[in-house]
Amino acid sequence: MKCNPFEYYEATDWQAMYIEAEKHETPFLVINLDTIRRNYIKMKECFPYASVYYPVKANPALPVLELLRDLGSCFDIASIYEMDALLGIGVSPDRMSYGNIIKKISHIEYAYEKGVRLFVSDSEADLRNLALAAPESRVFIRISSEGADTADWPLSRKFGCHPDMAIDLLLLAQKLHLKPCGVSFHVGSQQRDIGAWDSSIAKARYIFNYLKDASIPLTLINMGGGLPARYINKTCDIDVYAQEITRYLREDFSEESPLEIIMEPGRSLVAGSGLLVTEVVLISQKSRVGVDRWVYLDTGTFNGLIETIGESLKYPLYCETKGPLSDSFIIAGPTCDSQDILYENFRNPLPQNISIGSRVYWLTTGAYTASYCSVGFNGFPPLQTYFVTNS
Ligand SMILES: *Cc1c(COP(=O)(O)O)cnc(C)c1O
Repeated sequence: MKCNPFEYYEATDWQAMYIEAEKHETPFLVINLDTIRRNYIKMKECFPYASVYYPVKANPALPVLELLRDLGSCFDIASIYEMDALLGIGVSPDRMSYGNIIKKISHIEYAYEKGVRLFVSDSEADLRNLALAAPESRVFIRISSEGADTADWPLSRKFGCHPDMAIDLLLLAQKLHLKPCGVSFHVGSQQRDIGAWDSSIAKARYIFNYLKDASIPLTLINMGGGLPARYINKTCDIDVYAQEITRYLREDFSEESPLEIIMEPGRSLVAGSGLLVTEVVLISQKSRVGVDRWVYLDTGTFNGLIETIGESLKYPLYCETKGPLSDSFIIAGPTCDSQDILYENFRNPLPQNISIGSRVYWLTTGAYTASYCSVGFNGFPPLQTYFVTNS
């Protein structure tokens, strides 16, 4: 079946993006800021009890950060460079959480000096650095979570520790004169199993209980990201996620007050605002009798589509070429690198009579694309981004 953009975008959003797209030579990304605005408001409606900390890494473009600043969002930063970008547009440090477990002591020092007082950790060495360079700051401990096989872009092995170790670290934080305040987790990006939140919330409950007995009352649960955007593989709506996650929280934390809940929606907030526009550079066959056809586009793994690695994310593709679709195409990028194959086992269908020069529109590309480009691998420049609104 041909991909219908209206399954992925509001009609007015698509129109504004499409009109902008007609003005430019490929490749480029169009971001519709109105989509992000609506998604943010929707997020607040779905989780009225939570503070939103937008993870800057999902799309660090200044117009996006400025919009979210004006909507009252807080921010999850991965580095002092993201912090500097936010300070540069007037976001105060008390609206930031330093959410990377991996940080140099000099960077902790710098963030502290600028006023950041909320940090994550998941190891003793990092915690000791925090005690030295960010004394008396609030610290939450990241726990590892399950759900790697149901997340399209898992984040579970590299980050977070076992709940028992989280307990040790929270106790140590207290000893080191930090302010242990709670726990965080990330169930994996584009998490299709809502149950993944349930088991992480249950682990948080276990840790809260233990610390309460040790006279350290915790208040903060940072539930990270993981909420879905709309790609080819279907997921439940955000409302269903919200209902279920809220129920899990109620079941485990009914008598707790006051509880401070943080959400860090990246993909679910910005992916749907993006349209990445590419063009076919070459179509070829590798043998006289082969059935596969190679379609090479002017954008690939190294210019914005890195999340196709391992065919993890299956972006919907839209073409204007008329006629039936075919799954005989292997889709690849333009560089001289064999990793630069986008879809081969997964056959993302394209029109049978697509030709050199045809445009291929990549839908739902507002997250983890433009900022994920190489600076000039094979000489190809990073993706140009254009911003639109509907009015
Ligand atoms: C990447 C990241 C997020 C965003 O995750 P999404 O799945 O894009 O919503 C949130 N929090 C932390 C700590 C992250 O590293």
